[in-house]
Amino acid sequence: MSPKSPKHTETRLVHAGRRSSQYHGVVNPPVFHASTILFDSLAELEKAGASKPGKVTYGRHGTPTRFLLEEAVADLEGGYGTLCVSSGAAAITNAILAYVKPGDHILVTDSTYFPTRNLCNTFLKKFGIETEYYDPTIGGDIAGLIRDNTALVWCESPGSLTFEMQDIPAISNAAHARGVKVLLDNTWASPILCRPFELGVDVSVQAGTKYIVGHSDVMLGSITTKTEEDLLTVKKQILIAGDAVGPDDCYLAQRGMRTLAVRLKQHHESGLKVANWLLTRPEVKRVLHPALPDDPGHAIWKRDFSGASGLFSFVMEPVEKPQLANMLDNMELFGMGFSWGGFESLILPSDPTKIRTATKWDENGILIRLHIGLEDPDDLIADLDAGFERLKTA
Ligand SMILES: *Cc1c(COP(=O)(O)O)cnc(C)c1O
Repeated sequence: MSPKSPKHTETRLVHAGRRSSQYHGVVNPPVFHASTILFDSLAELEKAGASKPGKVTYGRHGTPTRFLLEEAVADLEGGYGTLCVSSGAAAITNAILAYVKPGDHILVTDSTYFPTRNLCNTFLKKFGIETEYYDPTIGGDIAGLIRDNTALVWCESPGSLTFEMQDIPAISNAAHARGVKVLLDNTWASPILCRPFELGVDVSVQAGTKYIVGHSDVMLGSITTKTEEDLLTVKKQILIAGDAVGPDDCYLAQRGMRTLAVRLKQHHESGLKVANWLLTRPEVKRVLHPALPDDPGHAIWKRDFSGASGLFSFVMEPVEKPQLANMLDNMELFGMGFSWGGFESLILPSDPTKIRTATKWDENGILIRLHIGLEDPDDLIADLDAGFERLKTA
């Protein structure tokens, strides 16, 4: 859809990236399986360039199944264009690699998703790129950390596990004043709860695996840019990396995405209900959820986001390992596992203490991350309540 038709998000979700009239009236974009694409003539073959948007030249460069998904994500996030890759982690790696060279310095939020950190501390380090972690709540003071060789600022808001909100407009203003690009992991918000380019971001990354797909059955990543120039910069990197997401996965992502708005409304509402219940519990020290009025990031969340997803954490009062195991091993509805964003609820213990370097995480209680799925929240509360009871019997 063209940006000239400023329809509501719910409407755009239903219609973005669909060309039914081109495909015999079929509602959903068809799945084109391809490696080789045949050309009718030498002239056509010679015209084929992988960098021409929408041009079908070779399976790895994409088929209409992927292009239509990319069109939809770009429309929803409000960017110039999108490139889809085979996982969220691949999106992060390719987005960062597109902008760095040996000798560069990059600024990365201390609250970032762990695999991003792993990329910086191993691969980037090996190639002479220095990563400096910064306090996620730094805001405009990021200006003091920018050097002449700073290539990019990496943001993630709210942060993985600990959910600090970042002042993205303040960070973007400071970075742009020095000609530095701002890249954001926007996965928590999905493509619809935060408009990253209106906040000043240059490149927005999504782990489509989470809410875009929404059904816990596909790995997918997206990189959306504000400008055509940035899209081409990222595209060159992806071509070098040889990443190619399969058409079946793109199809499932398209299908999952159509219900994103209604799913997120429920994730938001049920998540807050569970979060508010946790606030009343003696087993709980703190709830980390930016949509709660007392959360330190609440004002920024309210200013920059149009809703909350279903992912947040809480800090438990100190418990012994056997107690924790007795609670977690016997949950009836909450599954234990990595990832999130599907229709089902998940519970995951973690400890950010050893991960942080720029800031200190000194809550001496286990951090529990919850993904509140589409079950009735009262049943989820009952499941957590029974779990807290089991702490006493271990
Ligand atoms: C899961 C996740 C990713 C990585 O996505 P994958 O598809 O699992 O590779 C990136 N960023 C955040 C914030 C995530 O939660």
